[in-house]
Amino acid sequence: MKSRKLKLNTTLRQPTELASHGLVPVADLSDLQKVAARYAISVTPAVAALIDPNDPDDPIARQYVPSAAELVAQADERPDPIGDDVHSPVSGIVHRYPDRVLLKVVHVCAVYCRFCFRREMVGRGRPTTLSEGAYENALAYIRAHSEIWEVILTGGDPLMLSPRRLKQIMTDLAAIDHVRIIRIHTRVPVAEPSRITGEMVAALKVKGATTWVALHANHVRELTKPARAACAAMVDAGIPMVSQSVLLRGVNDDPATLEALMRGFVECRIKPYYLHHGDLAPGTSHLRTTLENGQNLMRALRGRVSGLCQPEYVVDIPGGHGKAPAGPTYLSRVNSFSPESEQASQTRYRIVDYCGEVHLYPPET
Ligand code: SF4
Repeated sequence: MKSRKLKLNTTLRQPTELASHGLVPVADLSDLQKVAARYAISVTPAVAALIDPNDPDDPIARQYVPSAAELVAQADERPDPIGDDVHSPVSGIVHRYPDRVLLKVVHVCAVYCRFCFRREMVGRGRPTTLSEGAYENALAYIRAHSEIWEVILTGGDPLMLSPRRLKQIMTDLAAIDHVRIIRIHTRVPVAEPSRITGEMVAALKVKGATTWVALHANHVRELTKPARAACAAMVDAGIPMVSQSVLLRGVNDDPATLEALMRGFVECRIKPYYLHHGDLAPGTSHLRTTLENGQNLMRALRGRVSGLCQPEYVVDIPGGHGKAPAGPTYLSRVNSFSPESEQASQTRYRIVDYCGEVHLYPPET
């Protein structure tokens, strides 16, 4: 069937609106109303334009359009899958690692990803931003902890703030001597690129701290011309960018799709940073794949693209224990017989090359 693209001038937030544009079957509406009562929905015109409503497996729709499968929760899934709450000393702050904190200033996003690990905390029924009092407390916490070198603005999506508010937050943080890095995690350049105006880019630059921006995208089709232009505006302004992606079943869990995505990032001057294993967020099992599959994909990627295009495959340990690298290992120790040295056995290293062939590396003498 011929592909069809949607041209909208408004964001879709209700299942009935999705149905009237052919993005969900009318027969699913009753289930989708239950999904909508629990999790926020938002499909922006920029995202809708990427979806082919005639393709039931469209990789963009799978990320943003709700499904009745979200009503099915698995026993291991949990509302706070990466354990933010146990590391939250004051409202808005997550202090999991010694030298950095998350600062969650805003609780809304341009789009609501169906696999979101904070799906219980963003969107529906939440205040839009941190209250002024809570924000001052969070700043006081950062000021009082001189080990905090990096502040990561997340949420929600910090680029949903007005440039004026964002500038104020950046200025407040940069005024703290020990805060040297401010990192912003965002999906806005993909989901609503028109928000990346000159004023927004100017708001990101601040004296006293270095700004990094981490772009969240999971499929190369999300790197549209406007999205690439939005990223170029930030990079041209001297803001370094990294990527983060989530490994998602039916979206990017094959080598060619991952390869195209990583090449797309590098073409945009964005260094691939993280490929996250899908977190155990409620109702997301239909979008997760296995850790073993993730490792196989990382092996395949190593054979296809340069180191510049390699992200680190990571899994967040449930309960708040942080991220762990989850990629395949290429080096192990083995005992091997060595007739030349007349030794019964010798410890060597076993190394696997990018084609999967095994080689022995001599021991240190
Ligand atoms: S943009 Fe980030 S925080 Fe917002 S719904 Fe998507 S994954 Fe969650």
